[in-house]
Order: sequence, then C-alpha cells, then structure tokens
Amino acid sequence: MADIHSGGCLCAAVRFKTHGVLRELIFCHCSQCRKQTGLYYAATNVLDRDLELQGAKDVTWYRSSERARRGFCRQCGSALFWKSDGAEYTSIMAGAFETPTDLEPGYHIFCADKGDFYDIDDGLPKFDAGRT
Ligand SMILES: [Zn+2]
Ligand SMILES: [Zn+2]
Repeated sequence: MADIHSGGCLCAAVRFKTHGVLRELIFCHCSQCRKQTGLYYAATNVLDRDLELQGAKDVTWYRSSERARRGFCRQCGSALFWKSDGAEYTSIMAGAFETPTDLEPGYHIFCADKGDFYDIDDGLPKFDAGRT
C-alpha cells in the first residue's frame, strides 16, 4: 500500500514503518498512561502484519496489567507501544511518528482518571472509562 508512515524513539535505536491507513487517535487518560508518559497517551494502532520494526532487541516490554504490555526503548526510555495480549495489532504512540503524520484526533477515554492539572476542552467525545 502507498500509505507508509515511519517513526521511532528519541535515540533512534528503535525505528518502525507502518503500512496502510492509521486509525484515529485515542487519547487515554488512565493512571497507567498518566504515569508512563507524564501526561496522557495518544495512540493510533496498526495490524502487526503492517508494522515493520527495526531494533526490536532494544524494545523492553513492561507487563503493565494482566491483559497488556507496554513497549519502550531500553536505551532512551521513549514510550512507543501498547499491546493487548493476543491482539493482532499494536498501538503506537502518536508522538513517535515523523511529521507529517496524517493522524486524526478521535476521542478521549478514562477521563475520570486524568491528572487534575489540565482540562479536556477540545470538543472531542469524552468517556469516563473505556468507550461505551
Ligand atoms: Zn531509543
Ligand atoms: Zn491508558
């Protein structure tokens, strides 16, 4: 497919390329995303077969819950991926993509758990927990 996007971590030990149209961004404000990123998580996702990963040996997968893991660069610490156990797709953090990303904002989830130091007022749909 012609739709190719690339990106990587801060130190470039981990690079990736995606094929195909990227999903709209989901902004997750849950406490895990808040702690991992310092703010909130903005992620698209891509089918694993459409994801080319370089430097996979430098990705550390942290088991953040019973159903998911979070991948980050073990050299520079950049948060990059989220993967649900058994899923055929990988979530990728929006900020890791080179611009122009062509990414479109979608909606906010786990708003009830967000930090108390900012407001969500961009007009996008908001959900207290997961999307209902
Ligand atoms: Zn890195
Ligand atoms: Zn989250």
